[in-house]
Amino acid sequence: MKKNLFGRTGKRFMALGLTAMLTVSLFAGCTKKTVPSNSQSGAEPTTGVVTTEEGKYTAGTYTATVTGMHEMTVTVTVSETEILDIKVDHQETPGVGEPAVESIPAEILDIQGLGVDTVSGATLTSNGILEGVKECLKQAGLSDEEIENLAKIKKAVEEEEDQELTADVVVIGAGGAGMAAAVTASQAGKKVIVIEKTGKMGGNTILSGGALNAVDEGSETALANKDSVENHFNQTFEGGDKEGDSVLVHSLVENAWSGVEWLKSLGMEFNDGVFTVTGGMWPRAHKPVEPEGTGFFKTYQEYLNTHSEITMVYNTTAKEFVVENGVVTGVVCTGKTGNTITVKASNGVVLATGGFGQNIEMRIKYNDITKKWPTLDESIPSTNTSGITGDGIIMAEAIGANLVQMGNIQLLPLGDPKTGSLSGNIEHAVESRIFVNLEGNRFVNEGGRRDEMTLALFEQPETKMYIVMDSDTYKEGNELNNFGESIADLVAAGRALKADTLEELAALMGVPAKNLLETVENYNRYCKGGDAEGQTDEFGRILFTDTDGVNNGINNGPFYAALRVPTVHHTMGGVQINEQAQVMDTNGNVIPGLFAAGEVTGGIHGSNRLGGNALTDTVVFGRIAGTSASEFTK
Ligand code: ADP
Repeated sequence: MKKNLFGRTGKRFMALGLTAMLTVSLFAGCTKKTVPSNSQSGAEPTTGVVTTEEGKYTAGTYTATVTGMHEMTVTVTVSETEILDIKVDHQETPGVGEPAVESIPAEILDIQGLGVDTVSGATLTSNGILEGVKECLKQAGLSDEEIENLAKIKKAVEEEEDQELTADVVVIGAGGAGMAAAVTASQAGKKVIVIEKTGKMGGNTILSGGALNAVDEGSETALANKDSVENHFNQTFEGGDKEGDSVLVHSLVENAWSGVEWLKSLGMEFNDGVFTVTGGMWPRAHKPVEPEGTGFFKTYQEYLNTHSEITMVYNTTAKEFVVENGVVTGVVCTGKTGNTITVKASNGVVLATGGFGQNIEMRIKYNDITKKWPTLDESIPSTNTSGITGDGIIMAEAIGANLVQMGNIQLLPLGDPKTGSLSGNIEHAVESRIFVNLEGNRFVNEGGRRDEMTLALFEQPETKMYIVMDSDTYKEGNELNNFGESIADLVAAGRALKADTLEELAALMGVPAKNLLETVENYNRYCKGGDAEGQTDEFGRILFTDTDGVNNGINNGPFYAALRVPTVHHTMGGVQINEQAQVMDTNGNVIPGLFAAGEVTGGIHGSNRLGGNALTDTVVFGRIAGTSASEFTK
């Protein structure tokens, strides 16, 4: 075992241990002193001799407003020589950005430096806090160079020993599919180890809007919406241009409702009724009571609290499969400190590492196959959490897995202009809003396919649009959107615009009022039944009013608008599986011992995934993979 270079960490040690490592030149004319620093064991120590002085900060309390996943206010109190306190006023969703809010300020105070690693899975929040602290320290008198020097100060870590772990079933990735597989395997009586790259469960699933498509065939709700499992199949299959594997699509839609019942049996709560999620094509999405995807993980966490047979191994990255005599028997991983952790399975291994939305190289490479999008380079943000880099796809390809439909990459027209995340989205359901370009005109069927909407957005000036809606679903101002944000807060933060009249809203949006008024008037005409040709407008929109008749056009002020841009959301290509979630190789044979579920797999959704089907996918195929891996014997 490698020992911590200095035996301990903490302020006192830092103040003592630094002298030889780094000194930073701060204000001239003051008494010299050293700045605490350290270097991560295994990393190159910071070099150079720089000096620092007393009085590096102007004592006081400073505030900066920054954007993490949401808007945050960071307040830093400093004495002349020390950072004394950091407060983060935030609306981060529990289980999403919160771990960063807890750990980043504490670590900065501890090391009196800014060389803090982002909390994996909470990168936006981590970076937001770091940016806020930097901004406050600038206000306290530090130059950019001095801030850069503070960023070199890191905490020492102790490298842990290599380990070998065993379980019946090994699951890689603690997102929606991985956790569904893990709980299912546990319910089958298996001991399970879940390997997760970040410090928490959730993956992209926890960042989603939470909508899950499922038809409770024959129920009052399904009958009222003229919906059926067959309708769900047809819309999924045709919505993906019939490129999806119809056997897998049947599995998806036929097992969707039992997936919801399974979640309910674990204690998960859903709102009554269904709604149409953007790109969902039909009202069949079930909305969890908890915001975003947090309800799923609250449920899985509660299961973990009462079932010790699932062991979560966090901050550990799967690197390659262990293959013995052609059978996948485990996985070799790298632990947080660079140590090797080998995890062996007596039964099967489930791959559930999600897609590659955050791997720009892969995005560009595979977009080249279909050339669907004008570009997927770094100029296009993503809704995805930073760990979603296609690791599982690369690992599976290395042992001969067949990759299918890798060029099918989904973008949404709903990204936050700064971060690409779905937060700050003011819509509640398709029926209640329109998309308006910077000229004040509608340009697409807002109830249509996600790819068509986003391709149309790429054609608009500056590739930007506003979501425009009225106050029907925002009567009080404190109502929350899908992301647990209130419209009042979004307006206060400048992330949404609010005006009593459409003329005033147009002025805030910077679009010609005449165009916006005409656009809304025309749209409202269709909400009231349209013209002689029936309830279809020039873009082919058919979803105008919701089933309660609440949203019947944009009539009632105050009116709201929020700016949105294209954002990479879901990668539909990936590892080929069969109906039992067994991974297939390039010769059409099963790879024994390896199962996969969720976004890491390909070929279910085809060229375009219906909104609300990804969570269905995680639950349905996560459960199938969990069962198949439990039943597998070598
Ligand atoms: P899905 O919706 O398919 O379940 P998610 O994005 O929700 O996918 O979850 C995928 C999870 O896999 C994330 O928590 C991510 O951090 C994790 N992950 C990705 N790559 C690795 C890896 N190499 N090792 C371990 N976990 C990984």
